[in-house]
Amino acid sequence: MSVQPDPSSSSSGQQAGPADPEHDPTASYALDPAYVRSLTARVVSTTGESVPTYTPITGQPLAMIPQSSAADVKEAFARARRAQQAWSRTSLAHRSQLLLRLHDLVLDRQAEIMDLICWESGKARKHAYDEPLHVALTARYYARTAHQHLDTQRRVGVVPGLTRVEVNQVPKGVVGIIAPWNYPFDLALIDGLPALLAGNAVVTKPDAQTMLSGLLAAELLEAAGFPEGLWNVVAGPGRELGGPIIERSDYLCFTGSTATGKLIAAQCADRLIGCSLELGGKNPILVLRDADLDRAAEGAVRASFSSAGQLCVSMERMFVADQVYDRFKAKFVEQTKAMALRPGIEWGSDMGSLISQSQLDTVTAHVDDAVAKGATVLAGGKARPDLGPYFYEPTILEGVTPDMTCFGNETFGPVISLYRFHDEADAVSRANAGEYGLNASIYSKDTKRARLLARQIKCGTVNINEAFGATFASLDSPMGGMRESGMGRRQGAEGIHRYTESQAVAVQKLIRFSPMFGMSDETFAKVMTAQTRLMTKLGRV
Ligand code: NAD
Repeated sequence: MSVQPDPSSSSSGQQAGPADPEHDPTASYALDPAYVRSLTARVVSTTGESVPTYTPITGQPLAMIPQSSAADVKEAFARARRAQQAWSRTSLAHRSQLLLRLHDLVLDRQAEIMDLICWESGKARKHAYDEPLHVALTARYYARTAHQHLDTQRRVGVVPGLTRVEVNQVPKGVVGIIAPWNYPFDLALIDGLPALLAGNAVVTKPDAQTMLSGLLAAELLEAAGFPEGLWNVVAGPGRELGGPIIERSDYLCFTGSTATGKLIAAQCADRLIGCSLELGGKNPILVLRDADLDRAAEGAVRASFSSAGQLCVSMERMFVADQVYDRFKAKFVEQTKAMALRPGIEWGSDMGSLISQSQLDTVTAHVDDAVAKGATVLAGGKARPDLGPYFYEPTILEGVTPDMTCFGNETFGPVISLYRFHDEADAVSRANAGEYGLNASIYSKDTKRARLLARQIKCGTVNINEAFGATFASLDSPMGGMRESGMGRRQGAEGIHRYTESQAVAVQKLIRFSPMFGMSDETFAKVMTAQTRLMTKLGRV
């Protein structure tokens, strides 16, 4: 399948215009329109309305995205419910096999997937690469651990030998997934794959800016053999479709901002359905006095500027031990200034574009505010319209104080603030300041000490001598946020059990839980009390 630019396309750097590209003969497409239409045909939509999307790389039109109404959402759920009935009766072995097929397909078609991610999000190819890789790892992990997580398990019965208890993992039904734009292919799938494996169907709403990546995910699932109707995609503004989706979901999985997460949690509470919320962060790195500074500088560059800082687990605050501050700063600044910023979808760029004008405005406002209030720019600090409409340089700030917007608020862009610390307790307390708690990183050669320090950090993941990849790619470990960074976990056992109801089934043999053999209630109570004491002495749980 071709994702080549249309021959008539130009890299003119033009800004996204209001024109409808489908009906504008002068519009030059960044992607083959036939390829785009094969994807957009997958949206459940009867409205006849479409909205244009544009690539942040050049501003050229990408696609006309059909829009879904509340009635379309209802139809998507009806399809999902029908498909789920049959799907929940398929064997775990069959579902695991389809996941492994998806794993192969995603790796076989990774160039196409990366092309699309780059065009839609503007990120550098090396950051787009992480997305199909993470999806493949997730598919493999859940396929290989399906029985461990989902097989019926024996538990301890109340009367030894006479109460047989087992616990089934029953699928919830239809899972709603509302996803953001920053890792549009990855986040379209990684939360959905365990939901499917557990026997659920999915209705998903990708972000309006990155619908094509979400639709390519749907196409790959079908190509891997997942049945029609099991994975349904709707399109439209979150504030309009969010309600209809939550109204019909049996569980809701949301990734996005803390503000939207709170709205969604309230709606889920109203229906008493469960939800997982993967939200924002203001993630800290600690560089201890015994850190390998070259390694820490490499990690800091990746942690701060992957996907132009538009990564939930990326770092925006760095606390560096006094003894090594100046040496570390020199290395970090040097490596940041050496980064290659190139527009386009080819390899060779160290950082791509921000996704939108709104992201550029936020980043610009945070840096300008800090500078106006006295912060120093050590690297970057300005937009690069010469590279593309939304490019901004990788930026390191020093001297950031609590009155500056970027001190405690998530920038979600390529901006990190450097702070000096004198003792580790103080560094931990500053790292823990604020309401977020998603990801942290510690650099130290003494990994035992670093692991002890990690326990004091209020974040759902802590990476030692790595920025974020060690926890994010270790699929057997849970990933998610403490405090205002979220609720629930993706990955591991936690990431699949959120999509099941644990059902206990007990078979009681011989005796019953009421007086037998003509016993009075009082004698029965005495026998039960004596039995309870005996079992406790024998070490029963
Ligand atoms: P956002 O909350 O505005 O949008 C995310 C999704 O929610 C989109 O699909 C959007 O259409 C939808 N949405 C918006 N308003 C809605 C509403 N009222 N009801 C239902 N759905 C609604 O988030 P954003 O600003 O586009 O994304 C960036 C944020 O996401 C950052 O804060 C980032 O930290 C966070 N994020 C977190 C993770 C994580 O795993 N913790 C991953 C990626 C992004």
